[in-house]
Amino acid sequence: MAETLHPNIDKGLPRKSAKFAGGTLVCECVNNPVTVEITGQVLHNHVCGCTKCWKPAGALFSLVAVVPTENVKVTANKSKLKVVDKKALIQRHACRACGVHMYGPIERDHPFKGLSFVHPERFRESGWAPPGFAAFVSSIIEAGVQPSRMKGIRNKLRKAGLEPYDCLSPGLMDYIAEWTAKKAGVPAA
Ligand SMILES: [Zn+2]
Ligand SMILES: [Zn+2]
Repeated sequence: MAETLHPNIDKGLPRKSAKFAGGTLVCECVNNPVTVEITGQVLHNHVCGCTKCWKPAGALFSLVAVVPTENVKVTANKSKLKVVDKKALIQRHACRACGVHMYGPIERDHPFKGLSFVHPERFRESGWAPPGFAAFVSSIIEAGVQPSRMKGIRNKLRKAGLEPYDCLSPGLMDYIAEWTAKKAGVPAA
């Protein structure tokens, strides 16, 4: 299989529909797939280069967004789900048969508490908001990509309209820092 940034973005970013009001995420199992119902549009969709997010075969990046955890409901074959790493901040619930991560809530005290990470390409429906940036780009080296290829890969991301960052986007990093400052009681200057 040819290597791609991600199969859902190689031919251009998917189109958002104003009518999209949620949908059903389905794992890759042909028989008895896990299904997860999501209410509402996804937020902060992006591609991610970290080694923890689930990626489809051949993809350098995952496609990952957040939704409020209260908008997530497992509707079939819940017994096939297991948490990949119980110690991780994101409690990634994967299908033990096909390996797809179906949702990953953050339950610990954290600025993203109450949100769940989902992979929008698993929606049966189209119309979900397209990715807006690329996160943890340098981390693909940890997955085996030669550092000499990074310039080309970053250019490819920019061409796709996805500004590459080596952590999260500045907006999300500011949000996390603001939460941390408030928690520490730092007076606003
Ligand atoms: Zn499955
Ligand atoms: Zn990731």
